[in-house]
Amino acid sequence: MNAEDFGKWMNQSAPLKLQESYDNSGWILQQRSQYSAALCCLDVNEAIIAEAKAKGCDIVVCHHPLIFKGVKRIGTTTTQERALISAIKAEIDIYACHTNLDNVLKNGVNQEIGKRLGLKEMQILVPRSGELRKLATYVPLSHFEQVRSALFEAGAGTIGEYSDCSFSWVGEGTFKPEAGATPFSGEINTLSVATEKRLEVLVPVWKVAEVMRALRGSHPYEEIAYEVLVLDNTNADTGSGLIGEFETRVSLAEFMERVKAAFGNSALRYSGKLDKSINKVAVCGGSGAFLIPAAESAGADVYLTGDIKYHDWFDAPSSLALVDCGHYESEQYTPNLLAEIIQKKFPTFAVFIAETNTNPVKYF
Ligand SMILES: [Zn+2]
Repeated sequence: MNAEDFGKWMNQSAPLKLQESYDNSGWILQQRSQYSAALCCLDVNEAIIAEAKAKGCDIVVCHHPLIFKGVKRIGTTTTQERALISAIKAEIDIYACHTNLDNVLKNGVNQEIGKRLGLKEMQILVPRSGELRKLATYVPLSHFEQVRSALFEAGAGTIGEYSDCSFSWVGEGTFKPEAGATPFSGEINTLSVATEKRLEVLVPVWKVAEVMRALRGSHPYEEIAYEVLVLDNTNADTGSGLIGEFETRVSLAEFMERVKAAFGNSALRYSGKLDKSINKVAVCGGSGAFLIPAAESAGADVYLTGDIKYHDWFDAPSSLALVDCGHYESEQYTPNLLAEIIQKKFPTFAVFIAETNTNPVKYF
């Protein structure tokens, strides 16, 4: 697999533009131009690099970036330093999909958690805004289908669970080709009146360049009239956390049994009464205490996440039960997601899911 193609595909599936400002997703180590096999994991440490080497993998695709804050020296003191040195020595590249994978609904970290709990009607808990654009363009009737299909193909026109969404209507366009122009129709220095369709599609900001390339490649005009408009709409497909519902209500105790079965916990930290009735469930993989207020305002009965600190439990509203299943446990299926993303585009490429358990926290 070509490294450039891999990077492009990962950026399409979990766009780097979706990562939080503090994050460091994307290439962590980039030494090779070709890969023969990938190892997908949650954290990178020396044991993971050794596993990659043993399995013949030359790239490790992880969730938590090995380099997160500024690295001022590389010695052999920390897990991070040792992992970096062994990856460089073994010529194993590292690519991270972190908050950019947390922040997508489809095939994202939280949808995976929701699916494993059996949640329905899953939606982003705090949708992002300001990242949708509307592309409007004017197309002669003869080329309308060609242009519309090309835009859909390039990723325009998706709204939630619907693809190929567009709006169009017929109108009249005028133009006068000046000397030097090579018009698709009409005569030089003569006013032309053409029947055209105005076509409108939504495009997420990270797909605008590709969609514009598709427009230029499919539109017959020498000079294409178009507008890219910034929308203030929220994007139902991207944002933090997730909220979903159970088909039938369960008690908090039953809910926690499900969590234990799905994530393999021997014990859970929780607040609330065991017989509390649960229908709406908010979830966020990893450290999600920052979404406690959002879970409450969305009307969740329980909020499942990891890394809840002592004082967060005090601050939580009484209407909301909290369940902490552990950071590692909540994200342990993320390597499977990473593997699925790669296999979808490169079905014959060898992809392994790490067998090394990197959770430093143990329960006694
Ligand atoms: Zn995490």
